[in-house]
Amino acid sequence: MEAGEDCCVKVAVHVRPLIADEKLQGCKDCVTIVSGKPQVQIGAHSFTFDHVYGSTGSPSSSMFEECVAPLIDGLFQGYNATVLAYGQTGSGKTYTMGTGFKDGCQTGIVPQVMNVLFSKIGTLKHQIDFQLHVSFIEILKEEVRDLLDTSSMSKPETANGHAGKMTSPGKPPIQIRETSNGVITLAGSTEVSVATLKEMAACLEQGSLSRATGSTNMNNQSSRSHAIFTITLEQMRKLNIPGDSCSNDTMNEEYLCAKLHLVDLAGSERAKRTGSDGLRFKEGVHINKGLLALGNVISALGDEKKRKEGVHVPYRDSKLTRLLQDSLGGNSRTVMIACISPADINAEETLNTLKYANRAR
Ligand code: ADP
Ligand code: MG
Repeated sequence: MEAGEDCCVKVAVHVRPLIADEKLQGCKDCVTIVSGKPQVQIGAHSFTFDHVYGSTGSPSSSMFEECVAPLIDGLFQGYNATVLAYGQTGSGKTYTMGTGFKDGCQTGIVPQVMNVLFSKIGTLKHQIDFQLHVSFIEILKEEVRDLLDTSSMSKPETANGHAGKMTSPGKPPIQIRETSNGVITLAGSTEVSVATLKEMAACLEQGSLSRATGSTNMNNQSSRSHAIFTITLEQMRKLNIPGDSCSNDTMNEEYLCAKLHLVDLAGSERAKRTGSDGLRFKEGVHINKGLLALGNVISALGDEKKRKEGVHVPYRDSKLTRLLQDSLGGNSRTVMIACISPADINAEETLNTLKYANRAR
């Protein structure tokens, strides 16, 4: 399929360099980026995507310009958008999104989104009134947790080292709801009104720190949850059209509201590879539920023939897809960035990631 204008889902691949740990293990680079083409090869397999970014040069800036900047333009025009980072644990999702507050946090997608957003607002604020809100939640075991709820900040550790209960006592669980005009809301989650870049960055940092992580065989820094940072942009535009009678409720004001979801997905490695205790396994199974549903939704959206036939899009199969429902498909724009490690020891998972991403096209 051509990467056409009307295709609502774009897929990019980000190949990170071999990291120190892989070099120490004597890993070889087994992924080739075909020069001049958005194509990657691994073994006998070859895949073409909308974009492929390697680790040489400054991939982050061109990735941002090509994949994310158009979504921000759309946001100002009232279109919802979603950026998803997919890949096995350790493949570079958090690095790519820039939510980890480690290395890469300056060049990652989310910090760049915030910069561009506020500089655009700066140039337009004389004509338009802006309101910005952010929320930051994670989905773990099909349960939504508010990362900006300061009352649930302290996570008591139980004797065996597992994190305490996810929701704070007395607080009802967050519920995903749909309004009569198809807008998805998160009842009970914290929505922080932000006026400056600094305030928004503080929310990102607070939520990132509070994000649950758990150790698995793969990488003890990894997260088994989907983290979703959402920026909602409201605009009130004063219109100066004498004699305009088309709009009945707001005579000379235009209201626009759109949201951008920035999603650091859970590791895509299959549950059996984490091979730990029963609890972890259960989490693995649930994570796969979200990723499985996401794959099915995106694949249904990307298939023009299916779309024209009005084929059912299975949003309701997981919390993740339900939450993103009004920002995947329709008029909204979606970019999936599949993150992969070039190391030969990860070849099997890398191939799985490329197959998943390929299905999304
Ligand atoms: P994930 O979130 O998918 O588990 P991380 O983003 O934590 O993976 O990345 C794993 C490791 O690889 C980290 O040490 C990170 O700094 C490093 N890394 C990831 N992507 C890159 C990159 N493009 N360039 C350099 N190092 C990277
Ligand atoms: Mg991560």
